[in-house]
Amino acid sequence: MKKNSAKSASKTQSAAPATNDSNASPKVKFFSGEHIPLELHKVRVVQKLHLVPVERRLAAMQEAGFNTFQLQTKDVFLDMLTDSGVNAMSDNQIAAMMQADDAYAGSQSFARLQSAVEEVFGKKYLLPAHQGRACENILAQHFVKPNSVIPMNYHFTTTLAHITRNGGRIVEILSDDALKIKSTNPFKGNIDIAKLEASIATHGAGNIPFIRMEASTNLIGGQPFSIANMRAVRAIAKKHGILLVLDASLIGENAYFVKQREAEFKNASVAKILLTMCDLADIVYFSARKVSSSRGGGICSNNKEIIDQMKNLVVLFEGFLTYGGISVREIESMAVGLRETTDETVMSQSPLFIEYLVGRLEKLGIPVVTPAGGLGCHVDAMGFVPHIPQKDYPAGALATAFYIASGVRGMERGTMSSVRDVHGHDILADAELLRLAMPRRVFTLSQVKYVEDRLAWLYKNRNLIGGIHFVEEPTVLRFFNGRLAANSDWPQKLAAKFRQDFGDSL
Ligand SMILES: *Cc1c(COP(=O)(O)O)cnc(C)c1O
Repeated sequence: MKKNSAKSASKTQSAAPATNDSNASPKVKFFSGEHIPLELHKVRVVQKLHLVPVERRLAAMQEAGFNTFQLQTKDVFLDMLTDSGVNAMSDNQIAAMMQADDAYAGSQSFARLQSAVEEVFGKKYLLPAHQGRACENILAQHFVKPNSVIPMNYHFTTTLAHITRNGGRIVEILSDDALKIKSTNPFKGNIDIAKLEASIATHGAGNIPFIRMEASTNLIGGQPFSIANMRAVRAIAKKHGILLVLDASLIGENAYFVKQREAEFKNASVAKILLTMCDLADIVYFSARKVSSSRGGGICSNNKEIIDQMKNLVVLFEGFLTYGGISVREIESMAVGLRETTDETVMSQSPLFIEYLVGRLEKLGIPVVTPAGGLGCHVDAMGFVPHIPQKDYPAGALATAFYIASGVRGMERGTMSSVRDVHGHDILADAELLRLAMPRRVFTLSQVKYVEDRLAWLYKNRNLIGGIHFVEEPTVLRFFNGRLAANSDWPQKLAAKFRQDFGDSL
């Protein structure tokens, strides 16, 4: 009885996007002419935040070893570290969690997830995994051999780690604009088609198990690719008999940008755009911590043979095939969250807030990545603190300084997140970015304005910011657990200047 009514609730939900996903833009015009992103949701559960004084922020940063990953949330005001697993869930997602079917095997929660995946991504077969990197582990173990080469638009940290761990390497084939901070190119995530052909000729199709395209390319600022580009990549992959794998972790935003920026899809629904993208890929995998605002991950395909071959790795590393290390409650919320990804009013909220913040910062002359992407606002550390050389981790230093100035936690995406070469030298990152992630539907506009205000103050005082260096450096994904120290007493001086300028304000 209960189960049925819950099921019909989720059915209603699955039908909802059809009406929401009209051709109307979710942007609401204000009579004043001001461009303000209007929240198309209301807050029904809140969590109290703590903004601690600047002296405590300085101490907390020292305790955290100048690594924002090591901060405790009791010391964090706005957590803009990531969009992973911290997105606001909808009422329908929470409701769906109550009908979870706890079973080791044959859970109906998994059956509901399978049908959502088929409806939204158009893929019939689904392997569950506990998160996105677990999907990458399975794909890399299955496909990557010593000397394998994987061409891609750009790597993600965990993708690179799994491919190299299995003896392969990556080649990034980006358009020339991709790494330019300031650009008007609407599709900086595109693969350069001529370079892709050349790369296949160089490495040999036989050494390339798959080409990888990442939607809303995370590390270059949440920048999308166009469907025209994906079609061209698909044609080349097909010609050479190479599989095309789509990392769909940030696919909702990529679909939203396609609708906004690619003329052919101006009047297409987000649902149709998602299906079009997934149809071009042989294998789609995702981190549900991002897409679907839940927690978990999955690999899906219409190729039963490929899926069957990877099943052993799922049972070995993740769990039985109908849960794969994911709680059944999360599986239920994932199914609803995936369907909500087709709703433009849902998918537009984070990009519109990011666009607003990027626009305001640009006006203030603060260097930011343009055009505004998905995921977050990316501040260009090499433009913000040009006096800090890359070896002193300018983006890491900026993340540290911004936390001290504001209590806002961002993430370094630069050389600190990179690796060392065989000689032990840092491989300098292509860009040094402070990423201020915009978790989906979590913050209000006044909070975004606070971020703008404190960044403006910090920009004015940017000469006070100095470099940092590692004191404890793990060999794998060092940015997560590494500890660093300031190269001088600049953090103390920055905190003192804050106190001087703001009096007894927080
Ligand atoms: C987050 C992310 C991953 C890894 O997913 P996790 O759930 O964090 O393991 C892989 N690819 C992209 C593009 C991501 O953004």
